[in-house]
Amino acid sequence: MAVSGEAARYRGRFAPTPSGPLHFGSLIAALASCLEARVQQGLWFVRMEDADFPRNRPGAEAAILRALEAHGFVWDAEILRQSKRLDAYHAALASLKEAGRLYPCACSRKKIAAHHPPRAIDGGLVYPGFCRAGLPPGSAGHVWRMRIEEPSEIRFTDAIQGEMIQNLGKEVGDFILWRDEGLFTYQLTVVVDDAWQGITHIARGADLIDSTARQIYLPTALACPTPFYAHLPVATNQTGEKLSKQTRAAPLENSRAAANLTAALTFLGQNPPLTLARASIQTLWEWALENWDIGQVPHSRFLRAINNT
Ligand code: GLU
Repeated sequence: MAVSGEAARYRGRFAPTPSGPLHFGSLIAALASCLEARVQQGLWFVRMEDADFPRNRPGAEAAILRALEAHGFVWDAEILRQSKRLDAYHAALASLKEAGRLYPCACSRKKIAAHHPPRAIDGGLVYPGFCRAGLPPGSAGHVWRMRIEEPSEIRFTDAIQGEMIQNLGKEVGDFILWRDEGLFTYQLTVVVDDAWQGITHIARGADLIDSTARQIYLPTALACPTPFYAHLPVATNQTGEKLSKQTRAAPLENSRAAANLTAALTFLGQNPPLTLARASIQTLWEWALENWDIGQVPHSRFLRAINNT
């Protein structure tokens, strides 16, 4: 994708996984990322993160796009589908291998757990590094891991959550970029595509904030620019669970688009007049574009959604 001559222009994106229809939680990320791009006179893209093939659900992509259209979203280029980008991920993996930044690993989850390593920040286990110095004789690697070199403290300033620090070596460990069932992991695909699309600013749910240090470390190794980040509060239901397919979040009703968008603006701290819920989509977007202020978004990682739970 051409970015030459536009290097300074804001480029944002919404990157849904087609694992189910849009729900209120995903509307938050779509709306905030789009409004911020628009008020910055920038471009806004939609990318279908469909390279994690087992998670794709038939019909989900079409339902997501129908919902975005019904809610008045307009994107700036053809949709990028990760399933069409496998060559780019292969090339990134090959360049990291060649630079000696990756190593194959043969360890099973059971073997790692038996060593009782510390818990990783995302709930997994910090890999103890058994295969760092080479595969045990006679064994075959089934994943490729990124070798984290010290010092591995990553700092960034999040536009909503503030100053963030993560020690990758201690809190994450050598992370996986490729699994032998032919799957590139989210950490790799997101970085390769954000770089290729020239994304300068990422606004997304704070459930992904713990991945961000990996996504800053990786571009450094791939010599890609690092985007700016804004992690939005994640919408939860009454019992504090993230709204998701797993927690049976209701799909957005397209016939209630104005009400859904008004609820999303309220959730994002924008105080829309409640009459907007009955206004036309056009009036609603006009109000949103006029009034959007990322500074009003609550600085919390999780927030209960009043509606739609
Ligand atoms: N595809 C991811 C999801 O649906 C979002 C990735 C991102 O925004 O970085 O949760």
